[in-house]
Amino acid sequence: MKNLLYFLFFYLLFFSCKKDKFEGVVSEELSFYVDDFIAEGAKRGVTLSKGRLEALLIAEFSEEKEANVCGLGWSNFDNQNTQRIEILDSEFCWDNQTDIQRENLIFHELGHALLSRDHLGTTFPNGTPKSIMCSGTGGDCSNFSVYHENETFKGYYLDELFDPNTPAPAFTQRTNFVRTVFEDQFEEGINDWETFIESDPNIFEVALDSSENGIRTGAYSMKIEVKESVIDEGSLIVVKRFELTDFKDCSSLIFKADIRTEGAVDGYLSHALSLRERLPDDSLNRFYLNNQPISEAEEGAILLSDFPLEVYCISSGTNVVSVSFAVKSKLPVKIYVDNIRVELVE
Ligand SMILES: [Zn+2]
Repeated sequence: MKNLLYFLFFYLLFFSCKKDKFEGVVSEELSFYVDDFIAEGAKRGVTLSKGRLEALLIAEFSEEKEANVCGLGWSNFDNQNTQRIEILDSEFCWDNQTDIQRENLIFHELGHALLSRDHLGTTFPNGTPKSIMCSGTGGDCSNFSVYHENETFKGYYLDELFDPNTPAPAFTQRTNFVRTVFEDQFEEGINDWETFIESDPNIFEVALDSSENGIRTGAYSMKIEVKESVIDEGSLIVVKRFELTDFKDCSSLIFKADIRTEGAVDGYLSHALSLRERLPDDSLNRFYLNNQPISEAEEGAILLSDFPLEVYCISSGTNVVSVSFAVKSKLPVKIYVDNIRVELVE
């Protein structure tokens, strides 16, 4: 207790001598985003000032960090009562990012610095982060793409940023089926599916299958096969694109398929939807991935129909959607895919 009092005494002495005159520093490149953040707060009744803020675009972080970190934020930097963010001035973290991606990153760091917010690991049922304050460690959360330009979508994340008690948005609870926007039962073959193989192409095979595999809706299904055991697991991705037109802004998509495996995947099987959004200035490809822990699943069980993948609140700029499956396995396995549907819901 005595130590704590000494500490407090020195801390107060130190602090009161040191930082009275500090007036804040914001790198020119970040200035627009900082002002925008303060304006978004003001719209929501949260008054913020730049008076104690250091917002810096810098070549090197002030502390050592893993290679994939692009930004840091402190509400009390170095115990000097300074609010500080550091954004790494690198090709990946800055040069190659679009305006909206930079905004995602900077707003997250300003959430730490100006709002004293911690990370929030909570997600909506489809795995989308509940907050832009999501953590990048151990999850799929990217601080560059939590929200996009869609007003309803972005609006929710900004509301939540300034008020963590904001209720879940309506678009996460939509179930009104509108129509099926894509389906494939492989009766026309598999030639229009593109295959990308990252390893020895002889190990993987994608083929039209007509055997009795237990999930067929017609005569055929698609078989993805890993033919032999490998030490370094390669990966295979099959993709098909379709155009999406004539839908209400902020509609959602649900991706369903029937998948069955023979043999155990030592790796993963995932299915994904990615959206290409053509917007006036920025285009952001949104990517939604569902990793399925196949090794734990019972062999032969139909897997995916129980785990539909949902994408919330698609933007009116979206015009192309890709459906894909990825397999990575060290062990031989046969994966049968059939009855793929993508449904539009409002
Ligand atoms: Zn963070």
